[in-house]
Amino acid sequence: MTPERWVLATDLDGTFLGGTAAERGRFYRLLQDLAERLVLIFVTGRELENTLPLFDPPAAGEPTVPRPRYIISDIGTEILDGHTLAPIAPIQDWVAAAWGGANARVRALLADDPNLVPQPVETRYRVSYYCDPDTLPAATVNKIHGAGFDCLLSHGRYLDVLPRGVSKGPALLRLLAHCGLADHRVVVAGDTLNDLSLFQTGLAGVAVGNAEAGLVAAVRDLPHVHLSSHPGVMGIRDGLHAHGLCSPAPSGVTAGAPSGAGADDRPGPCCAAAHPAAPFDEHGGDRDLAHQPTRC
Ligand SMILES: [Mg+2]
Repeated sequence: MTPERWVLATDLDGTFLGGTAAERGRFYRLLQDLAERLVLIFVTGRELENTLPLFDPPAAGEPTVPRPRYIISDIGTEILDGHTLAPIAPIQDWVAAAWGGANARVRALLADDPNLVPQPVETRYRVSYYCDPDTLPAATVNKIHGAGFDCLLSHGRYLDVLPRGVSKGPALLRLLAHCGLADHRVVVAGDTLNDLSLFQTGLAGVAVGNAEAGLVAAVRDLPHVHLSSHPGVMGIRDGLHAHGLCSPAPSGVTAGAPSGAGADDRPGPCCAAAHPAAPFDEHGGDRDLAHQPTRC
């Protein structure tokens, strides 16, 4: 009988790349042991050119990052095969059609807006700015919407102008459907408001322990989202257990310190619920963003 397959669709910074080198190494090895049963998808706000170096030989003391089967980069606007780096054409075409080559038009629209500072990135299907959410006027948001685009505030300083209807969650749903993965069990993981659309898909999710306050507030009442108290990869591990996809972290495995804190090994995370049918087992086998909607 073919073993059941699973999908982990995870954000990178603060999530899949969060935690000590030892924690990440242990988690990545777990995933690689499960490679035949697990479909790994990276869903990141990074540009592709800043994602690919993750697969270079690691620096001393750093773990090797597993190669994902698919990569959704640039907040859902670039969708690629993780092995060949070829675009997944039907989904990439959907993004391109929604955007309509609008980079220059968006830049011109917002060129004189004193609240926005362009980010020094070249992207094909979005335009990104720095901003202070505390002083961002509704008029700026209305101008973006009025021109037919979505915008996304995250991390208290990033504003991304996106094709209408495009973000991480919608791109993931289309990818799952296109690749025949929609009937697999899927867990999504993230830590900032640009991950909110992943949690709004209705898929099982985990917001890791270092998640920004706005994301926590937005997903707190979603029953399919596990709020982990553990940051980074230990939070993902905790969430996989909470959703019945793996056993508890073995005793003696330590959780990482909260992001930004010094190393402070503490007892490993374990959810109270037992999952005897868990498919894999480590041994066996800003304005106050807390009150802001993600879509601005
Ligand atoms: Mg992140």
